[in-house]
Amino acid sequence: MATNPLTYLFDGQETGFWCGPASVQIALRCRGIAKTEAELAKTLGTTTFGTSSSADVVRVLNQLLGAGTYDDVYIPGKTATDADVAALKTALVRSVDAGFAVVANVVGTIRPISGGSFSYPGGHYVAVTGYRAGGDEAYVADVGAPAQYWVRTSALAVWIAERGYSYLAGGDMRLLWLPDALRAAGLTVNLYDGWEARGASTWGPLRGVVCHATAGSRLSTDASETRTLWVTGSTSAPAPISQLYLSRSGEWWVGASGRCNHVTAGDQGPHKGFGNSSLIGVEAQNDNRGEAWTDAMLDSYQRGVAAICRRMGWPASVVVAHREHQTDKTDPVGIDMVVFRGKVAAILNGDDDMAQVQVLVRQPVRAGGDDMIWISDGQTRWPISKDERSKELQEVRNAHGAAPNLLPPLANGGKITDTGDIRAWGWDLSTVSGGGPIPGGPFDVSKASVAEIAAASGKAAASEIRADPEQDGRDT
Ligand SMILES: [Zn+2]
Repeated sequence: MATNPLTYLFDGQETGFWCGPASVQIALRCRGIAKTEAELAKTLGTTTFGTSSSADVVRVLNQLLGAGTYDDVYIPGKTATDADVAALKTALVRSVDAGFAVVANVVGTIRPISGGSFSYPGGHYVAVTGYRAGGDEAYVADVGAPAQYWVRTSALAVWIAERGYSYLAGGDMRLLWLPDALRAAGLTVNLYDGWEARGASTWGPLRGVVCHATAGSRLSTDASETRTLWVTGSTSAPAPISQLYLSRSGEWWVGASGRCNHVTAGDQGPHKGFGNSSLIGVEAQNDNRGEAWTDAMLDSYQRGVAAICRRMGWPASVVVAHREHQTDKTDPVGIDMVVFRGKVAAILNGDDDMAQVQVLVRQPVRAGGDDMIWISDGQTRWPISKDERSKELQEVRNAHGAAPNLLPPLANGGKITDTGDIRAWGWDLSTVSGGGPIPGGPFDVSKASVAEIAAASGKAAASEIRADPEQDGRDT
């Protein structure tokens, strides 16, 4: 078992442009390998302008530690999304648990939790050698300062944005905890023969969950659906198609613990540019042509997805519908993902069976770091000005104690009939875009796509597309 933070000799970089070699040196010291900065500068191709990219770090680390040990991930936008943070957290925990450091290429300013700040406007490399709070906080070995300090992992991800990081990619990354996590959420779980070994074992870092519908017949059986997913494949994707299957009965099946073939690289949404190596798939039994979703099945769907998020330490915002990931997809037809994510968030907060009226924090395509807040009675949603969000959330916290995402039930049975209800909560009407229910609002959110919602909320779509080198499997 590795120490956390890892054990190594820490010292600063020897020249102003050797942060890359010095950080790689620390990553190697964590593995008991001694190299000088000068030696590493030579193999990294470091010049007085520094070290080109995380790809060089991966190349050199793998020369010394074995092919496939390290891989790198880029955060393409100017800031980091929740999904980028989720992936970094997953990569950090996995690396440190196995005794490996993460090497991050960063740019700009970081503010340690203990205070102060360190700025590298021209770019910098650091080693990340520990985590705490389940991965929400990271230990930075900053060879430039030189100093070691704790930061929020979300802040580290923003520091990495427009650059990348190298992490432990090799080894077995099977999700053998899936059955236990689902059962712990009170769900009924079946195991499909061979699930432990199905799907490629090396994948990740994982960054989210994709919700699908199987699009089979309304009369399909669990036996036929699971056989398609895990044995025969479909006309559009080879088996294994997904890790998980949810039956109309509300029961779950685990059919694969490794990488599956449920998506192609996304062309939109929080996982734009990422594919099967990064995403867990759930196929739910529904014809995807208007078949009604029963409350029981939807409840099971939300609880199962929340169980995955809980195990991974992820927020509900990393959960997407297949149609939100790929513009050529419609599934799962009939599931409102804003409400779905709101329920997942409520389950994660332990608030799922309390009030009927919720404030949903929505991050459809977060390019600028802004959240969007919706108030919802489960049927209709109203957007709240994003500029007011901190104040409003604080008011809710003040008024309702420990349940920051909930408002009290309305007297009239949970329906918001006019803006007076909003005023009754002490909210400033000027913060409610559109001034009322969606039909009178700026757009019909129930029909809007993620892109339309993003546009209506004044946010650009994710600023850049990450060229995905992997040839993703086809999809269902
Ligand atoms: Zn799908």
